[in-house]
Amino acid sequence: MPESRPPRDWHVWSVPMRTRFRGITVREGMLVRGEAGWGEFSPFLEYDARVAAPWLRAAREAADEGWPAPLRDSVPVNVTVPAVGPEQAAAIVRASAGCRTAKVKVAEPGQTLAQEQSRLEAVRDALGPDGRIRVDANGLWSVEEAVRAVALLDRAAGGLEYVEQPVASVEDLAVVRRRVQVPVAADESIRRAEDPYRVRDLEAADVAVLKVQPLGGVRACLRIAEDIGLPVVVSSALETSVGIAAGVALAAALPELPFACGLATVQLLTDDVAVRPLLPVDGALPVGAPAVDPAALARLAAAPERQAHWRARLAEVEARASAMGEDRSS
Ligand SMILES: [Mg+2]
Repeated sequence: MPESRPPRDWHVWSVPMRTRFRGITVREGMLVRGEAGWGEFSPFLEYDARVAAPWLRAAREAADEGWPAPLRDSVPVNVTVPAVGPEQAAAIVRASAGCRTAKVKVAEPGQTLAQEQSRLEAVRDALGPDGRIRVDANGLWSVEEAVRAVALLDRAAGGLEYVEQPVASVEDLAVVRRRVQVPVAADESIRRAEDPYRVRDLEAADVAVLKVQPLGGVRACLRIAEDIGLPVVVSSALETSVGIAAGVALAAALPELPFACGLATVQLLTDDVAVRPLLPVDGALPVGAPAVDPAALARLAAAPERQAHWRARLAEVEARASAMGEDRSS
């Protein structure tokens, strides 16, 4: 890394979500263009400078270095089915542009297991016998609830590929993994660079869900994947096509990619910055950096007070990063 960089042009964008997701209705962030391409910096609003620092490293990697050479030219992705009724669940799968894997939300507060079973039966009907179904509980079950629910949902789905984050803590994840027949994936348990090693050391999961921005970039994720020795599912942090392309680059560079990735999320936003948004075709996303549309940058430019907020935030994260010596590439 050079001692000082030329001042760069950061674009602050703001895009409404199609439906409320993760408690948010508007997604915001920054894009920067460097010598290697476009990078996205879009840590969630509640994250402090320490948590946001890896997100900035990911943006810099994309802008300044680019990504390692891909080993494949497309990346299969899953369709996501929220906690909706069976008819709507089936319709989402049928409208999924050829996705052969469905990720179905379960452990929804206020819903019964019977409702979740009928959602899974409907997804299996719509997907056919060859499709793969995974469920995501977002850590909302207790250990006992997870053991009971996983067995029932596995049957309703005609076989589950895996259950994502059935319980909240890594310790409980390890317990559940020893008590269910279905493979277990860790998602929320992997938020910071040290977390995957804890999942590995406790043998808490069969699959690791990795996200490029929270873990500090594509190369950082490749190192983690190699170190933990678990199959990886690359997932998004609700980015624009620029951030999604980094996830696709990671998935394309992994030596093995046995599962569809959770990168088909651009459609959760009402608009996008790319000339051709990264949406699935035949159940996959193409590998490569999408062209950013200047007209979209102008259209999606955040209001002046949000611009000021993000520029102050960037300065804070940059200061924090240099105080921590974050420019070393580790
Ligand atoms: Mg998840």
